[in-house]
Amino acid sequence: MRLRQAARVILVGAPGVGKGTQSERLLKRFPQLSAISSGDLLRHNVKNRTPLGIKVERTMKTGGLVSDDLILRLITNELGRRGWLFGGRPNVMTLSSSAIGDGGLLDGSPDAFGSALEVDPLAGASLSQQASEDPAASFLLDGFPRTATQAKRLDSIVPINWAVSIQTPLDVIMQRISSRWVHEPSGRVYNTTFNAPKVPGFDDITGEPLVQRADDSEEVYRTRFRKFQETSEPLLEHYAKKGVLWEVNGMSSDEISPKLYQEFERRFL
Ligand code: AMP
Repeated sequence: MRLRQAARVILVGAPGVGKGTQSERLLKRFPQLSAISSGDLLRHNVKNRTPLGIKVERTMKTGGLVSDDLILRLITNELGRRGWLFGGRPNVMTLSSSAIGDGGLLDGSPDAFGSALEVDPLAGASLSQQASEDPAASFLLDGFPRTATQAKRLDSIVPINWAVSIQTPLDVIMQRISSRWVHEPSGRVYNTTFNAPKVPGFDDITGEPLVQRADDSEEVYRTRFRKFQETSEPLLEHYAKKGVLWEVNGMSSDEISPKLYQEFERRFL
């Protein structure tokens, strides 16, 4: 299914609401979409000891938010690297540092510049550039923007044209999370309500014991949920004012996906 216009999408939803699941499904169904995750880009920089990575490492380790300036540069550099921005100053390139290192960070594609040169987000981003309207320049942002300030600044470069707010009742998410068990060495996840292990409490493959994640405890979850509500409210308000906010409700990912597909198709196909 080919898109008729560029889709610039963000998914907003409480932790555990299934944003990851919906992203994966959208990418699979609409191959022209690609995902850009601010967390992944940052982790890549940290791993490769780039100037930016060194700068943000502590903040990330302590669970803080990286500065809006750095995040915005990182994202615009990534869009530029993919060839999705035009006008303004060209991206500054250096041989010494890397935001993208081995290129194709997320999708395995080669560096858009086709060279060994690497883009350094600290060297200067092209904030006067504008987004391409080519349907090939369609993306799903993950983890960004997180605040209304980030959203406003992003909109001046690449206006988001669909902000999806995924809503599931808090008690349903809590129920889902409290029945989640993981096999830590492999990362295999079970859910005692819809994907139970064959033997309760033990991994199907290795037979080793399963555990519940510390951040899946009810108390920790409630704190994360409150934090999400505080920051997401102004973010959603920003997109509502721009007329691009769309809300979807459901008790499960399977209930939400078909609604999401239908609306995506109506807007972009
Ligand atoms: P994530 O994988 O999205 O949970 O991001 C991991 C970490 O990267 C966060 O805890 C933040 O420290 C940082 N981070 C990711 N996205 C942003 C953002 N939009 N604004 C500020 N910090 C971010």
